[in-house]
Amino acid sequence: MYALTINNLKKVYPNGVEALKGINIDVESGDFYALLGPNGAGKTTAIGIITSLVNKTSGTTEVFGHNIDSEPEAAKACIGVVPQELNMNLFDTVLNIVVNQAGYYGIDRGTALKRAQKYLTELRLWDRRMDAARALSGGMKRRLMIARALVHEPNLLILDEPTAGVDIEIRRSMWEFLRRINEAGTTIILTTHYLEEAENLCRHVAIIDEGKIIENTRMSEILRKLQREVFVLNLESPLEKAPHLSGFDAILVEERELEVALDKNDSLNTLFNVLDHHGITVTSLRNKANRLEELFIRLVESRQQPLVSSGD
Ligand code: ADP
Repeated sequence: MYALTINNLKKVYPNGVEALKGINIDVESGDFYALLGPNGAGKTTAIGIITSLVNKTSGTTEVFGHNIDSEPEAAKACIGVVPQELNMNLFDTVLNIVVNQAGYYGIDRGTALKRAQKYLTELRLWDRRMDAARALSGGMKRRLMIARALVHEPNLLILDEPTAGVDIEIRRSMWEFLRRINEAGTTIILTTHYLEEAENLCRHVAIIDEGKIIENTRMSEILRKLQREVFVLNLESPLEKAPHLSGFDAILVEERELEVALDKNDSLNTLFNVLDHHGITVTSLRNKANRLEELFIRLVESRQQPLVSSGD
C-alpha cells in the first residue's frame, strides 16, 4: 500500500513560474521519506498540493488510495501537516490550539482533550498548556505545530523543515519523537536543509531540483555518492606554506588553518598519520562544506556524467 502516489504532477504559477515540471513520487506506507532540494526547487509547492493548499496545474495525487480531487475529505483525514510558517493564533493557549484543531476533524471534545494531553506531554509542552502560544520559544512553537498536526492521528505526517532554526538539543529530541511515531506506524515525509537530519531519520529520499525529481532512491545509496569531503583543520603551530601530504590535497588558508580534501575511501586516521609524520598537530577540525549543498552540486553534475562507476 502506498501512503502517497504522485503522477506527472505539474504546477505553473500565474506569474508563469513552472514550479513542478511533472514529478512522480511513490511513498510506501510506513516509510520515513525525505524530500530534499535547494531553495526554490519546488518542495513547498509539492507539499502545498498534497495538502490541498495549492491548486495543481495537472497530474494526480493519491493519499492512501484517496484521490485528492475526487475524495478530498478522505485524503485530508489521512494527512497531518506541519508547515514552515507558524499558521496558528499565537494569542490562543497551547491546549486550545490542539483541541480546536481536533474539532475541524469532527473529534469529540473528550477524545480531543485526551489526545492533546498525550501529544503535548510527549512533546514536552503539557506544563505550558495554559500559556498563549506567543509566549513559547521557537522550538516549542514548532513542537506545538507537531502536536496539532497529530491530534486527528493521521497515517501520514508531512513536515516542511521541522527543525529549521531549532537548536541542536531540541532537534535531537524532535528526531527521537518522530522516530517513535514512525516506528508506531505513521508514514513520515519531511523536507530539510540538514543532510544530517535526513541521514538520521529517513530510509528513502527524493531530490528535487528546478521542479524535477533528479534522484529517488534509498538514503544509504545517496550517501555513497558523497565521494569527497573537505575538512578544515586548525593547527597548533603556524605554517609558512602548505605541506606536501602524500595522497591528500591540502591548501593553507591561513597560517594555522589547513584545508584537506578526503576521498570517501580515505580514513581520517591515515590523514592524521601523515600529518604526524610532518610534525603537524591538529587542535580541532570541522567539515567545510554544507554536505547537502555539495550533494546537490554533485547530483546536478552527475546528470551530465555518471557519478558512480558500475563497480561501485
Ligand atoms: P522550495 O520549497 O523547494 O524552496 P517552492 O515550492 O517554494 O520551492 O518554490 C518553487 C518555485 O515556485 C520558485 O521558483 C518560487 O519562486 C516559485 N513560487 C513559489 N510560490 C509561488 C507563488 N505563490 N507565486 C509564484 N511563484 C511561486
